[in-house]
Amino acid sequence: MSETIFSKIINKEIPAEIIYEDDLALAFNDISPQAPTHILVVPKKPISKLSDASEEDQLLLGHLLLIASKITKEKNIEHYRLVINNGSDAGQTVYHVHIHILAGRNFGWPPG
Ligand code: AMP
Repeated sequence: MSETIFSKIINKEIPAEIIYEDDLALAFNDISPQAPTHILVVPKKPISKLSDASEEDQLLLGHLLLIASKITKEKNIEHYRLVINNGSDAGQTVYHVHIHILAGRNFGWPPG
């Protein structure tokens, strides 16, 4: 997988507003927020997109969801939406798998 902007954030080569970090993952504010709260949860392992993940990533993917839950709890956010865009037609622009945490406004359904 070629290096993405998220690898550079993980390696601290470029800055980001980091919300959470552990050995396996990082969470930081989205640079172009689509809601009052817009945080990205990113594994340090460079998986391009969700459909490239394999059985060996099972614990890691669950870990990312629990990080999203922990961050929202810490921020007293009860209502939020998690989004994973997989592939360009779904809106993926950075090919390093990530979960969007969006909160602070109402979200329509179905999504656009
Ligand atoms: P996606 O379109 O699902 O691939 O999401 C990529 C997200 O990364 C977008 O919401 C961008 O605004 C965000 N993004 C791109 N570059 C940066 C950056 N340097 N720091 C934080 N967020 C970024």
